[in-house]
Amino acid sequence: MTIKKIALCGGGNGVHVFAPLALSKGLEVNIWAPFQDEAHQMRSGAESSGGIECIFHHRQIKELPTTISAHAKDTIPGADVIVIITPAFAHQKMLEEITPLINNNSSIVVMPSRSGLEYQYHWFHLKERQSRLIGFQSLPWACRIEEYGKRARIFGVKKTQSVATLGGGVEEDFLVELGEILEIHLSLMESFLSLTLGNVGQIIHPGIMYGLIKEYGSQELTLDEIPFFYQGVSAQTAMVLEAISSEILAIRDAIVQKSSEELALCDVISLEEWLHLSYGESILDPTSLQSSFATNRAYQGLKAPVVKKGEGAYALDKRTRYLVEDLPFGLLVTKGIGILCEQETPVIDEVILTLQEFLGREYLKKGILQGKDIGETRIPQLYGHNTLESLVMSSI
Ligand code: NAD
Repeated sequence: MTIKKIALCGGGNGVHVFAPLALSKGLEVNIWAPFQDEAHQMRSGAESSGGIECIFHHRQIKELPTTISAHAKDTIPGADVIVIITPAFAHQKMLEEITPLINNNSSIVVMPSRSGLEYQYHWFHLKERQSRLIGFQSLPWACRIEEYGKRARIFGVKKTQSVATLGGGVEEDFLVELGEILEIHLSLMESFLSLTLGNVGQIIHPGIMYGLIKEYGSQELTLDEIPFFYQGVSAQTAMVLEAISSEILAIRDAIVQKSSEELALCDVISLEEWLHLSYGESILDPTSLQSSFATNRAYQGLKAPVVKKGEGAYALDKRTRYLVEDLPFGLLVTKGIGILCEQETPVIDEVILTLQEFLGREYLKKGILQGKDIGETRIPQLYGHNTLESLVMSSI
């Protein structure tokens, strides 16, 4: 193995799974958990129970990381691979702190990358340091911490995970090795642009939230009235999802047609195709997009994100990741790319306008991405990409 020492960044569910998995393969794993008091809590949890345990359906692994620290300097120097597992809004801060500490030639893995991570990679001049960026389309596991620092449970594993790479030539062997550590198959996408445009979370989450906001807004609901998130997709919401997906495919085609680079972007596929490829026989009735959501066993029972408003009263959650992550680090990035290739996106615009109003934010204003809160997004224009060619060159 060429990977010997891993630094994990973050302190959430994914870190509680990655750490024991990699440690069980004999690697040195150090965790940098800078958020709040997580490092202290994780260290005391892990030490008091003899390691972090991750529980799969048929087995458990329990391992103790070498170092768990709130400081990057204790964990990043000397690591062959640095893995960031946090929501996308924490990526910039993490990259900023690790950049001065990493070895040249190191690999930075981000799980999941969401859209536009490539602009931050260039922003910190990581290519000049011969560092390689490996972005995951999603987290390989559906997982939750059961007891902080002590135990996490894995509910499902995505056996194949799409990844994109940038800089320094990531060799096939490296991806095989990383896949062996994670016990999954890594499938390489054509480019980071494919990963950014092919981010299906930017369609599914804002699209379904749009339907829910139109129906319920800030209305109070009883526990029984909270709708199912995926199973409850209406025919109208399915049409919105389909339209967002089609507009993204139109952006893909415009880029392929207008760019002077030879791009195919074949791995940017429709939402329906992605659903069927990802869930296959879990979908009992694949005849339409609506039925594919409503009858997908993997989605069963999951309710819309709500917050408690009072005794027995709930309302849609304005801080849900489906909005605060998938809009600024998803659909808005795609809108920014649409502007660069002069592709109109009326449905995406309508969804953005509705969601930003619900959130009390302003990103899109009179058709341009210059609302007062645009600075909290990852649109390419914020990183100096104001032409299609500049965007494409940053992503391949
Ligand atoms: P999580 O919610 O458990 O972890 C969040 C962690 O990120 C926190 O514990 C903290 O360490 C860090 N963090 C949060 N805000 C921060 C901030 N402002 N500054 C610095 N650090 C901050 O996340 P997770 O479940 O491990 O998921 C990581 C990513 O994977 C998220 O984007 C999530 O949406 C996605 N995801 C998770 C699952 C799952 O089942 N857990 C499945 C698919 C995708």
